[in-house]
Amino acid sequence: MNSAVDLSFPPGLYIVATPIGNLGDITLRAVEILRGVAAVACEDTRVTGKLLHHLGIKQRLIRYDDHAGEETRDYLLRLAMEQPLALVSDAGTPLISDPGYRLVRAARKQGIAVTSAPGPSAAIVALTLSGLPSDRFLFAGFLPAKDKARGDALAELASVPATLVFYETAPRLLDSLAAIAAKLPGREVAVARELTKRFEECRSGAPEALTEHYAAHPPKGEIVLVVAPPGRETAAQFDVDALLRAELAAAKPSQAAAAVARLTGGDRKALYARALELK
Ligand code: SAM
Repeated sequence: MNSAVDLSFPPGLYIVATPIGNLGDITLRAVEILRGVAAVACEDTRVTGKLLHHLGIKQRLIRYDDHAGEETRDYLLRLAMEQPLALVSDAGTPLISDPGYRLVRAARKQGIAVTSAPGPSAAIVALTLSGLPSDRFLFAGFLPAKDKARGDALAELASVPATLVFYETAPRLLDSLAAIAAKLPGREVAVARELTKRFEECRSGAPEALTEHYAAHPPKGEIVLVVAPPGRETAAQFDVDALLRAELAAAKPSQAAAAVARLTGGDRKALYARALELK
């Protein structure tokens, strides 16, 4: 047993959020837990090692990433049954597009105490900065990398009456903005970049305007995309014929009309009639 263990922490799994860029965002409770547990399960021991070094904490680190098998999970569960075990990810809140879901589920099933020390998460930071409605939002993680799957994912979300939040990477930003322009036309988008860091930026506008900007100024760093809910588009921003033609390239008139109705909120029968004319 680690002699540095603070006995005031009972056995169990402690989910601990860590900063997403600004080290000042670590919470007092996170520091106490990271100091007091018997071990810290983390995605990358070098990344977490650096954070703990900055905090002046020496800890036993156990790697637990997306590739961890059942053996590692069982080991962590046995440990958490008898001692306090922290779970962190490289940055932000564990489980939010990061490992941990299976571990938490298994811990709860086995009756192991699970608690969460909340802190930063890029999705929430971006939502609060975006100026878009925050009363109802849907966090959709990363969009698929392949064009067809990305388009399908966006089409599925088009009619959700909520602000949409996506994690993104710099090399894929332009492709995602193009897909948003096609599948969620007329919706305002905020590109939230390098949050809590020195070059933090939150730029809003139509996806076409953002595409123009980022084509001229290739983005660096980490990115969250926030998309306005449906119903705030201006009718003038829709080119219904262009949308129908694009859908008709791969779908029957009835399917094309349904897809465009979903996107624009337009009348499905009228769109079907127009799709037949265009076919
Ligand atoms: N669990 C983390 C959280 O709670 O924010 C997210 C981990 S996920 C693997 C990494 C993604 O989060 C990045 O690709 C980016 O989309 C987003 N992200 C993390 N830190 C960020 C930052 N400082 N600024 C903007 N986006 C960030």
